Amino acid sequence: TQSGRRPLVAGNWKMNGTRASIQVVEAIRDGLSPDLAARIDVLICPPATLIGSCVAAAAGSPIAIGGQNLHARPSGAFTGSISAEMLADLGAQYVIVGHSERRAYHHETDDGVHAKALGARRAGLCGIICVGETIEEREQGRALDIVRAQLAIGLPKGATAADTVIAYEPVWAIGSGRTPTPRDIAEVHASLREMLDKLVGDEAHKIRILYGGSVKPGNARELLSVDNVDGALVGGASLVAADFLGICAAY
Ligand code: PGA
Repeated sequence: TQSGRRPLVAGNWKMNGTRASIQVVEAIRDGLSPDLAARIDVLICPPATLIGSCVAAAAGSPIAIGGQNLHARPSGAFTGSISAEMLADLGAQYVIVGHSERRAYHHETDDGVHAKALGARRAGLCGIICVGETIEEREQGRALDIVRAQLAIGLPKGATAADTVIAYEPVWAIGSGRTPTPRDIAEVHASLREMLDKLVGDEAHKIRILYGGSVKPGNARELLSVDNVDGALVGGASLVAADFLGICAAY
């Protein structure tokens, strides 16, 4: 691409999927043309229970598999939690950090996001750090301040394009069918890029910034052609292979 950044189309299955869902990964694998796979990175983040089998299904294909969350510590007495090392051990290459649902339902803070992003890096995973404003924050004109602060606190020092991806996901656009205008997305992504420059200097131009929130095959081309949008984080539409492939086809 013109930006030099390789697009990333990432699927977030959230708390959906059983072993039968591995066929979705198989269908994406089989439907992804070599030509497209040469131009973009493709990632599926299934629930932790399916990471191992999805890694097996994606073996030898361009599809990477990732986790949706992690505990910041490598191991220990944290019943029910999963570390970055455990995800890496299964073959995961990425992990989503600070998704708005984690922030809302599991009280994750920006400091917690920072610790988790460090955990991801420690284990050699690429952390996808999510930021995004609520509808109230947008209506109060605070969207840029909110996402810039989330990034400034969440991003580890010395972050690189190899260990970090940013995802801008306005909370009000997630699962709602509503999306910001391309102009609004461009404004936020430019602002995040500028903040990245303050935080990591030249590396800022290599780090990918994804857009997420109600991305569908029908709007992907418009949303993904916006300046500084380097791919998508896709929830609902990533559960259906044809829809996910339709989004990839925007490239
Ligand atoms: P959605 O979810 O595509 O279903 O809006 C996006 C996300 O939460 O990552």
